[in-house]
Amino acid sequence: MATEATIQELMSKMTLEEKIDLTIGKDFWSTNGVERLGVEPIALNDGPHGVRKPGSSSEIGIGNSFPATCFPTAVTLACSWDAALIEEVGAALGEECLALDVQVLLGPGVNIKRTPLGGRSFEYYSEDPVLAGELGCAFVNGVQSKGIGTSLKHYACNNQESERMSISAEVDQRTLREIYLPAFERVVRKSKPWTVMCSYNRVNGVYASEHRQLLHDILKKEWGFEGVVVSDWGAVNEKAKALEAGLDLQMPGYTGDHTAKLAQLVRDGKLSKTVIDEAATRVLQMLLRGRENRQPGFVFDPEAHHALARRAAAESIVLLKNLDNILPLQIEQLRSVAVIGRFAKEPRYQGAGSSQVVPTHIDSSYDELQRWLGDKVHLTYADGYDEGESLDNALLYEAVEHAKTSDVALIFSGLPGAYESEGYDRNHLSMPESHNRLITEVCQAQPNTIVILHNGSAVAMPWLDGPKAILEVGLGGQAAGGAIVDVSSGTVNPSGKLAETFPVRIQDTPAYLNYPGEANKVYYGERLFVGYRYYDIKEIKPVFPFGYGLSYTTFDYTNQRLNKTELKMGETLDVTVTVQNTGARAGKEIIQLYIQPLTSQFSRPYKELKAFAKVALEAGESKDIRLTLEDRDFQIYDDERQTWRIDGGDYNILIGSSSETIMLREHVTVHEDPRTMASQFNRMSPVKQFLQHSETRELLAKTFAETHGAALFQGDDEMFTSMPIAKLVVLGVLSDHQVDTLIEQANQALRI
Ligand code: BGC
Repeated sequence: MATEATIQELMSKMTLEEKIDLTIGKDFWSTNGVERLGVEPIALNDGPHGVRKPGSSSEIGIGNSFPATCFPTAVTLACSWDAALIEEVGAALGEECLALDVQVLLGPGVNIKRTPLGGRSFEYYSEDPVLAGELGCAFVNGVQSKGIGTSLKHYACNNQESERMSISAEVDQRTLREIYLPAFERVVRKSKPWTVMCSYNRVNGVYASEHRQLLHDILKKEWGFEGVVVSDWGAVNEKAKALEAGLDLQMPGYTGDHTAKLAQLVRDGKLSKTVIDEAATRVLQMLLRGRENRQPGFVFDPEAHHALARRAAAESIVLLKNLDNILPLQIEQLRSVAVIGRFAKEPRYQGAGSSQVVPTHIDSSYDELQRWLGDKVHLTYADGYDEGESLDNALLYEAVEHAKTSDVALIFSGLPGAYESEGYDRNHLSMPESHNRLITEVCQAQPNTIVILHNGSAVAMPWLDGPKAILEVGLGGQAAGGAIVDVSSGTVNPSGKLAETFPVRIQDTPAYLNYPGEANKVYYGERLFVGYRYYDIKEIKPVFPFGYGLSYTTFDYTNQRLNKTELKMGETLDVTVTVQNTGARAGKEIIQLYIQPLTSQFSRPYKELKAFAKVALEAGESKDIRLTLEDRDFQIYDDERQTWRIDGGDYNILIGSSSETIMLREHVTVHEDPRTMASQFNRMSPVKQFLQHSETRELLAKTFAETHGAALFQGDDEMFTSMPIAKLVVLGVLSDHQVDTLIEQANQALRI
């Protein structure tokens, strides 16, 4: 890595214009360099689930890029809950970047899925910040292990595509800190991505690209981010403002007077030179690092990466339903299988927009089934539906006829490509009528029906009771076809669990009343209650809860142990549980740890995921799983003081196999730092706040004792105690001086 001295020397040799040039792209995919000083540009390309490198760096090139492995999209990979697997995929992506001479891969996306309608849901991991953050860390670790940079995106609050370039996400500070930022914070602190990409939208009225609180105060100062803040492509509106807020690199480049204009601002004293120096230094560091790590002539093994894509897809498939253990298919008992649905031959394996990869190869489920079943089982095929949405009765009739005359029907269905894309949201939760009717009618004709879903987010399932089994494949990448066969045949025992809730209807979803907003603002009115946090507290039963997924085997959870029953600041808590595979075949289980606050004064979700682990167990085998919690896991963001604080009190530590199925619980008492226990006293502090602590209660009593009229107000009736202390002046009970002294002494007594 280039030394500090090298960087400083290069910086000292650069002209103002050369430095400014470093803060903007040269063209669509590459940065500027400083040729005169031997500083070469680097390439930044999409991401996240495959490398999208167009033929030339001035071409947008969606659908026209060099072939690269299309791994499962984030929505699918997340269902594996498998950080090691995602790290492996990241490392393979890093290798493809080396081969394609790309220095920074534009991913991962760790935004929270606020609504299932979000057009980019398929590019994001989860509705939960801990899961999204941990998986984001794994992705960054994997890619960066190959000397390739990543871009953590889209910072922050890109939770919808409707009006994405101008909408203002109106979100309170506590919700921002506890729901929308923690995944970014975790990845920045733990995995140090080379770049963070700011989003297009506004946050509380300010464009993310110009948001000093987000870019400078929180990202760079509080979290210690040392990399480059890059704009989303075209997210800069006013460059000078953006630089002052903490942006380092504007992408892409454009032909204009960018550099001359900014240089003039610096010369006129309207833009500080230090701001340019800081941004240019950060970009320069990245350029040197990127060039240093290049490996000209590097080749990757497409077969090995295809095999990894298949394994990753299989590990991520979620078995949602499996009546009569119809899966895995017992090949020796089958004579004929009806394969129904165009997706069997033309799979939907990725979403649309900037992340669209040109795959090296595509496995269709039909071909893979044929390869597996050979001539032992007769395979028939019917389209079932056409490309559009509308029902085609002839196709439907044909499919039903095939289903009737077979032993089993496999229906490949889900959401058509046009439903899910960057740039716009879905209008509803439904699959096309042609898919829904197909499933209903085939299930009526053939009791042994299995539905295989291809979709980038939750869908409504009005036909839920029809099929015997449902496999959620998501958008499984180029090798999903083979993965489906691996799971259907039992070669792989499914172990995926949903990383987002599947609601019954859109009216049940957390953001329903506040989405997509109006007059260019969207209020995050549901606050912390996103995903399962909402369904829990409203007691709304979804179709399938967060964290849910079946296996071909069964698991038993016993013997939950905590290494302490009381936790103080700075301490960690170890939670151990024994998990046993009680079935007849090897399998993997995802163990989820939620905390449940029992005594909080704050508005808190019923429970929150804080840790998880995936464990492989042979039939009959049992293992102890240890999960560690830190004091941060018991903190909330105190809006009043603008700081994190432990929310002291009693908690249940819940161990679940899903957010709905809690197997074990143990109790812990968490002690908070006494200095943070009381809110700061001011003139609007209610009387009851003074009554909360013995020291301040005494001070209040002393003040009252000085005044005759105050005696009238003694007692603890709510009408009196909820009155702000300053109102006692207006009511003629205390003097201004008495109230000010009381506040000062109260703050001192609690050392605030
Ligand atoms: C997307 C980014 C992407 C960039 C470059 C933007 O439209 O929001 O995710 O990395 O384009 O293609």
